[in-house]
Amino acid sequence: MSVTETASDIAAIEDNLHRVRERIAAAAIKAGRRPDDVTLVAVSKTKPVEAVLAALAAGQTVFGENRVQEAEAKFPQLRAGHRFRLHIIGGLQTNKARDAVRLADVIETLDRPRLADAVAAAIAKEGRTPRLLIEVNTGDEPQKSGVVRADADGFIDDCKGRFGAALVGLMCVPPLDQEPRPHFEWLADRAARHGLGVLSMGMSADFEVAIACGATWVRVGSAIFGHR
Ligand SMILES: *Cc1c(COP(=O)(O)O)cnc(C)c1O
Repeated sequence: MSVTETASDIAAIEDNLHRVRERIAAAAIKAGRRPDDVTLVAVSKTKPVEAVLAALAAGQTVFGENRVQEAEAKFPQLRAGHRFRLHIIGGLQTNKARDAVRLADVIETLDRPRLADAVAAAIAKEGRTPRLLIEVNTGDEPQKSGVVRADADGFIDDCKGRFGAALVGLMCVPPLDQEPRPHFEWLADRAARHGLGVLSMGMSADFEVAIACGATWVRVGSAIFGHR
């Protein structure tokens, strides 16, 4: 990305955020829900700290990053002057669990027993417990992170036992080449069955559909920060 492209992207962030918030509110109302039922997670992956600062200046307080290393490079320095919550939303390697627990307020991507072990150990060592979501690979795509559908119930029960109230919900990223709605509906049904209140689903292309299906968190990147 060129310097001028970056500058114009940053100049557009406040307007983009305003528009996305309006669309979220409209989608919530259309679904018979309250606009403040839906939390906007602004996904700043690949974007510079200046972009995060522009979003903070526009009142955004919840951010998502895919990679622990990138989150570590951008966010801790901002804690002194700003109040925000940081979500890790990308597939997590076991050896990054401790950094994630130290850095993040929310880890959205628990997806296998070995990672749950590593996160539990990190919580004990760091003395800090982020809120946790389980990522479900609702499309059962081999290359993707997330627990496959068939193993979801068992893994959810396992994590409930292990993490208790810190486990708050489910997250998914539907296959790119499919209608997202059935995936969102499946996830909403699964969360309801397990009594989990948080549903993290919907991105720039489909957050309104996700809100219609019950999303409580939407993770929106390019509609706010520009193309990557
Ligand atoms: C990148 C990403 C997003 C945001 O995607 P956009 O299409 O840019 O809104 C949301 N969730 C996850 C897990 C992502 O990796």
